[in-house]
Amino acid sequence: MRTWLEVNTKNLRYNIGKIYEKIGDRKIIGIVKANSYGLGSIEITKELIKCGIDFFAVATLSEGIELRKAGIKEKILILGGVFDDELKEVAQYDLHIALSRFDQLVYIHKNKLQVKCHLALETGMGRIGFNFEDVEKVKKYVKENNLTNIIGVYTHLSVADEESEENRIYTEKQIEKFNNFNGIDTIEYRHILNSGGILSYSDKDNGNYVRVGIVMYGICGERWIDDFKPVISFKSKILFIKTLIEDMDISYGRACHLKKGEVIGTIAAGYADGFKRGALNKMTVKIQGRDCTVVGKVCMDMLMVKIPEDMVEKIKIGEEVILYGDDLVEKAKEIGTSTYEIITGINPRVKRVYIEE
Ligand SMILES: *Cc1c(COP(=O)(O)O)cnc(C)c1O
Repeated sequence: MRTWLEVNTKNLRYNIGKIYEKIGDRKIIGIVKANSYGLGSIEITKELIKCGIDFFAVATLSEGIELRKAGIKEKILILGGVFDDELKEVAQYDLHIALSRFDQLVYIHKNKLQVKCHLALETGMGRIGFNFEDVEKVKKYVKENNLTNIIGVYTHLSVADEESEENRIYTEKQIEKFNNFNGIDTIEYRHILNSGGILSYSDKDNGNYVRVGIVMYGICGERWIDDFKPVISFKSKILFIKTLIEDMDISYGRACHLKKGEVIGTIAAGYADGFKRGALNKMTVKIQGRDCTVVGKVCMDMLMVKIPEDMVEKIKIGEEVILYGDDLVEKAKEIGTSTYEIITGINPRVKRVYIEE
């Protein structure tokens, strides 16, 4: 293997156990959108099923179909909204949708489509979802037409993972609005808490499900969670080692100048694998537990690091390199991005490997 993403399934199950401790008698919707945050949608879903989870959420129709085709029989909700011309397939694959348009509800009814809906409420995310005034129209329509396909209601918290007094007040308002929703008798599923919500607000809402995303990987709000375990390591290998025979500029743009005698290692991963181009000559990768500085610009398929003098004798071709591991959160911060963006940006050519230790 050249470059791979290691997923520690044992730690994943451990973290799910921790989440169960926090949520009382609520149940879990496993969020497996975007290829399960880049970790592999089918494998992660199967792992979560082992933990007793029987409800999943994806972002798009095609992600839902992918799970069905892999034999996943559990409930699947599409959170990202769907277009009307996708509804036939939604019904065919028995997927649930997030509903946030009245005309879509009418469309579903008029076309006699068997589509189960979770009513999305706008409470402060500013993305999709019904305003509370429009919900009244939905309730009326549901009653008049005896609709039974609105089976869930949910909303999304925008700052549950950011600790400040102001954000706490904002989040509590969102939760209060959600808690006050009622009036559709066929609703079985009420869910509001995301990762940040589960950790900080699980005594506040009246939902019976929670939506578990990045918290299952031991991360929330760009922090490691105490008592949880890291799940993700993005790894590669040393492909080539050279001692500079003269002073030399490294990589595109000649943005790094090194001296004769210095040793560089070329690593078999680049930005096309998902290693981010961060601040020049400031990023590091781990080799034999040591942080080694990435020198020059990261290339598409390779990157170069400076090998510290005392390590030169000890390293060899094929040596394992950790690009992002238990420093993922810190690195995301350094680069000025989020852990979500890094892990979902790890590309398909990177093999996903599932380990138990
Ligand atoms: C992505 C998403 C989640 C999960 O978010 P985390 O921060 O990873 O917990 C939950 N709910 C909705 C609606 C989402 O889009």
